Amino acid sequence: MAKNIGLGVLPPEQVCSDANCPFHGSLPVRGQVITGKVVSDRMMGTVVVERNYLHFVRKYNRYEKRSSRIHAHNPPCIQAKSGDDVKIAECRPLSKTTTFVVVEVQKQ
Ligand SMILES: [Zn+2]
Repeated sequence: MAKNIGLGVLPPEQVCSDANCPFHGSLPVRGQVITGKVVSDRMMGTVVVERNYLHFVRKYNRYEKRSSRIHAHNPPCIQAKSGDDVKIAECRPLSKTTTFVVVEVQKQ
């Protein structure tokens, strides 16, 4: 059975045996929850999520586009692919650059 991770997201239909899965393993999530788009799924069990946002520049009274990329753990029961809109949640550091985990693939 999938655990309730306390974010109001639907648990995945598949079951996995990944210890670093918030639903089937023992990985608590806490902190920020961010939505973004997967731009790379070429790593083993990790995806790169890009977040676009507007930053206001007062001198020109306009917004400039900015983006940031976040590495997120991709549990086998979720398997987010390149191009997916995903919801990622902050967790403990899983590697040098990974402190987020994919919790949901948002359907169009
Ligand atoms: Zn899982």
